[in-house]
Amino acid sequence: MVENQRQGASQLLRSLKPPGHAFILGVTGPPGTGKSTLVDRLIEPYRKRGLTVGVIAVDPTSPITGGALLGDRIRMASHAGDGGVYIRSMASRGWSGGLSRATSQVIQLMDAAGFDVILLETVGIGQSDIEVVSVSHAVLVVLMPGLGDDVQVSKAGLMEVGDVYVVNKADVEGSDSMVVSILGVVRSMKTRSPPVIKVSALTGEGLEKLGAAIEDVRLKFERGDLGLRLRSIKGMILETAKWNMMERLGLVSGEKADKLAQLVVGGKLTVDDAAARLLR
Ligand code: GDP
Repeated sequence: MVENQRQGASQLLRSLKPPGHAFILGVTGPPGTGKSTLVDRLIEPYRKRGLTVGVIAVDPTSPITGGALLGDRIRMASHAGDGGVYIRSMASRGWSGGLSRATSQVIQLMDAAGFDVILLETVGIGQSDIEVVSVSHAVLVVLMPGLGDDVQVSKAGLMEVGDVYVVNKADVEGSDSMVVSILGVVRSMKTRSPPVIKVSALTGEGLEKLGAAIEDVRLKFERGDLGLRLRSIKGMILETAKWNMMERLGLVSGEKADKLAQLVVGGKLTVDDAAARLLR
């Protein structure tokens, strides 16, 4: 109901207690860097400690990578029989946008359902991914050797969103130079210095260190850190409001903007006036 914004969805969401139970970890990065493999590995330590885990695998680029979504499910199949793990793939296919609003709402449902940890995985190559992970308490940016230089990573907007930078595939040549390259970017940051951790989701190298870095933030969250809590809720509010406003303005279908564009082309309105009229 919620994913498809069906009737009754907003009443359902309104009936939930306010979010704040689940720790939300966003995992983003270019396709193929090993996010699904890593998420699969991250589930286990939580389960061992008796924590329940919800996974949302978001693919904003579907339907092209429909196969990848199926792959996600298969890769995480090791948890299929575990009632304490719930995996949900979400794609933008079949609807006109609002993926970040829908993700934020599905998170609220999972939170209300009592999941302790929510892993939110998205293919981080565009603005929509950054919007999707804005509801997280912490964001892992997953990179790998051979992605090209740090400039490309910076261009994709990934250097602004990470709380932890993971260079995955440590078992592959070139991972050290990737670490050096990312460290270079991190050290030039003025306001923060997120850790850069080299791991191999395949061999398990570095996973303990990564787990500890995430646990630092999770414990802060558990202790009630207000900044963390506000960050996630603010993300949810902004993403929900943004899409509600887009819908209200008729921007999702673009019809209103089309009509106004015709008026501008016909010399009847300026661009600024058309924009003002759209917002009225
Ligand atoms: P995603 O697109 O970021 O979710 O990446 P996947 O998890 O689907 O992984 C892409 C490919 O990289 C798969 O073939 C994985 O088996 C492989 N892979 C993932 N982690 C590692 C790793 O640590 N080392 C190596 N060599 N391959 C890995």
